[in-house]
Amino acid sequence: MVNIILLGPPGAGKGTQAKRLVDERDMVQLSTGDMLRAARSSGTEMGKRVAAVMDRGNLVTDDIVIGLIEEQLVHPHGGGFIFDGFPRTLKQADALGDLMARIGQNIDVVLEIRVDDEALKHRIVGRYTCGTCGAVYHDENHPTRVPGVCDNCGGTTMKRRADDTEEALKTRMLAYYRDTSPLIGYYYAKGKLATVDGLAEMDTVAAAIAKVLDRT
Ligand code: ADP
Ligand code: ZN
Repeated sequence: MVNIILLGPPGAGKGTQAKRLVDERDMVQLSTGDMLRAARSSGTEMGKRVAAVMDRGNLVTDDIVIGLIEEQLVHPHGGGFIFDGFPRTLKQADALGDLMARIGQNIDVVLEIRVDDEALKHRIVGRYTCGTCGAVYHDENHPTRVPGVCDNCGGTTMKRRADDTEEALKTRMLAYYRDTSPLIGYYYAKGKLATVDGLAEMDTVAAAIAKVLDRT
C-alpha cells in the first residue's frame, strides 16, 4: 500500500492523474477542493462561508480543511490514499503527518507535478467539465466532438468553475507560490519528493507516476 500526495500548482493535472490512480490501483482520492465544492453546493453553513473565499482564489483556513481530511482518515485503506490539493500549507502538512500516524500510516511519496505558468493559464482559462460525469474538456485543446454534448456520457450540461478566470487564477498562483511551494522543500528534506513533468501528454505523465509508485 502506498499513500501519496499530488503536489503542484492549479491546473497541473492533479485531479486527472488522481482519477486514473483510483481506477487503476484501487486507491482512494481525497481532494479538499472537491470536498469544499460539495459542501457549498449542498448549502451547508461551512459551504456558504467558504464560497466567496474560493471564488476569489484564496485559501480556505487550515482548520476547515484539516477537519475535512480528519473525517476521512478513520482507518487505513488497502489501496492507499491519494491526497490531491492537500496539504497546501506547512501547517496542513504537519497536521497530515499527525493524522496519518494516528491510523498507523505515513506518507510514502510526494509527487510534484511541474508545469510552467503560461501553460497553466491556457489550460485553466479554457477548461470545462461535464456536469453529469465529470469528464474534463478544453475550448481549444480538447473540445467535445459535438458542441455542448459530452463525448463520454451524452450529458448536455457543461460547467465552468467560478475560480477558473484569469483574475482568480492570479490569486491562486500567488497562494501556490507563497503558501504551498515551501512544501517541496519540506518533503525533499524528508526524502519523499519525486518530480514529474506535467507538460507531457496525460498518458506520459501517468506512466511517469506509475514508475515512481512501482519502485516505492
Ligand atoms: P486547484 O485546481 O486550484 O488546484 P482545488 O480544486 O484543489 O483547486 O481547490 C479549489 C479551491 O478550494 C482553492 O483555491 C481554495 O480556495 C480551496 N482549497 C482546496 N484545498 C485547500 C486546502 N488544502 N487549503 C486551503 N484551501 C483549499
Ligand atoms: Zn459526461
